[in-house]
Amino acid sequence: MNQVLIDQHFSQGTLTPFGKIEMNPSSGILNYGQGLFEGLKAHRTANGRILLFRPEQNAMRMKVGAKRMCMQAPTVEQFVNAVKQTVHSNKRWVPPPGKGAMYIRPLLMGSGPVLGVAPASEYTFITYASPVGNYHKGVLNLIVEEKFRRAIPGGTGEVKAVTNYAIIYKPIAEAKAKGFTDVLFLNAEKYIEEVSTTNIFLVKGNEILTPPTSGTILPGITRKSIIEITHVLGYQVKERAIPVEELFDAEEVFCTGTAVGVNSVNSITYQDTRIAYKRGAGTVGQELYEMLTGIQTGRIEDKMGWTVELD
Ligand SMILES: *Cc1c(COP(=O)(O)O)cnc(C)c1O
Repeated sequence: MNQVLIDQHFSQGTLTPFGKIEMNPSSGILNYGQGLFEGLKAHRTANGRILLFRPEQNAMRMKVGAKRMCMQAPTVEQFVNAVKQTVHSNKRWVPPPGKGAMYIRPLLMGSGPVLGVAPASEYTFITYASPVGNYHKGVLNLIVEEKFRRAIPGGTGEVKAVTNYAIIYKPIAEAKAKGFTDVLFLNAEKYIEEVSTTNIFLVKGNEILTPPTSGTILPGITRKSIIEITHVLGYQVKERAIPVEELFDAEEVFCTGTAVGVNSVNSITYQDTRIAYKRGAGTVGQELYEMLTGIQTGRIEDKMGWTVELD
């Protein structure tokens, strides 16, 4: 699905077979990274329906990001329609229930030529899709990152800018070289922020904690959904600043994101001290995972009105 912006409006999109796209060498995206990405999934239910999970949330997040990056964004309707058409035309590739999902990747980019430092004059919105298996990162053993920062106040850490991930490859590579799975980023005041591509929650007694999305944390749609689910399940969730030392007092830690759903953390290492956490049966993380994926896959009735069925 491919739409180009002309005169402040995105033209009617067209479906084209997946393949290479032509870019102007002086486009805003290639030269200065003027671009945003999104990610969402479509699931096949046991009775053969195909469900999208909160696609309008991704559309709205792209609109917010576009303001920050001085870009034009498609309307929520255009975004959701593009996603629907992309999944629809690739219906046969949506995996059977329990075998994964179809991952949809919307991209918004400055496609007009700009040599000077300025927003591009033309924008292109593309969505493509790929079937994905159940995402297992294996056991999550994190290390608290004390040298690199993924976001700074006033930066673009709270929007899904295409530039957000290239800068975390190095900290991840260094963590992997030391035998860890991923890194937990802190802010300058040593409060916890998030793991490279997922948001983080701590379970302490009967409280669930997560840092507030106040500028340097990506406002995950899974994060938001988990907070809403915890309310339904009768847990107390607090969005508040969490000093890194509180990692020592938590019984459970879990990460949330479209790729993983809810993923329990096995251990976090902070300044050479390894803290182990509860995982598996009977944990809050497990209960939330079951509820979230149950709604997404049609196994549990969607009383939240989150899923959008493809006709
Ligand atoms: C996309 C993303 C997340 C997760 O967001 P979801 O909407 O839940 O998939 C978390 N952190 C970062 C940095 C991200 O880019």
